[in-house]
Amino acid sequence: MNTNSNQKDSIQLTKNFTLSELTRSSTADRLGLINTPDERAVANLRLSARGLWQPARDILGVPMQVSSGYRSQTLNRAIGGSPTSAHRYGLAIDFTAKAFGNTRKVARYLVAELKARGIKFDQLILEFPDSPNSWIHLGYKHPNGQQRGQVLTAIKRGGRTVYVSGLR
Ligand SMILES: [Zn+2]
Repeated sequence: MNTNSNQKDSIQLTKNFTLSELTRSSTADRLGLINTPDERAVANLRLSARGLWQPARDILGVPMQVSSGYRSQTLNRAIGGSPTSAHRYGLAIDFTAKAFGNTRKVARYLVAELKARGIKFDQLILEFPDSPNSWIHLGYKHPNGQQRGQVLTAIKRGGRTVYVSGLR
């Protein structure tokens, strides 16, 4: 049972996801920024957790460490995120699942299983797989509502970030 005194922290969106873990941000804490989702963002977080993140958690069978979920406009600016990022709407998370393996292993298994089970998503991005700080971006819907099923890998090429198709 969650005994945290903050009411918001106890909101369980699905079996394994709480609202607080999808809105907490070490950057926001460090910079003293407010990162409270509005009603629409909370609804999107719930929808995404039910439709994709919990199914992904069930597929992996191990805890997922969420490093970033919802981002307020202030937080998103502070970290240099795209203004149209799905994180702004509560539609994407960045995560690792260390008990399962490295991000490349997690991404390969997850993409195969999501497709096999017909679970829709917008984007899965394997972010900088050769870095020890690699993570996976998992977006449920594009802010326009689309679920494109895009699978990409982000790599550094000559100091610039390039997104290539598929898992590398
Ligand atoms: Zn992301």
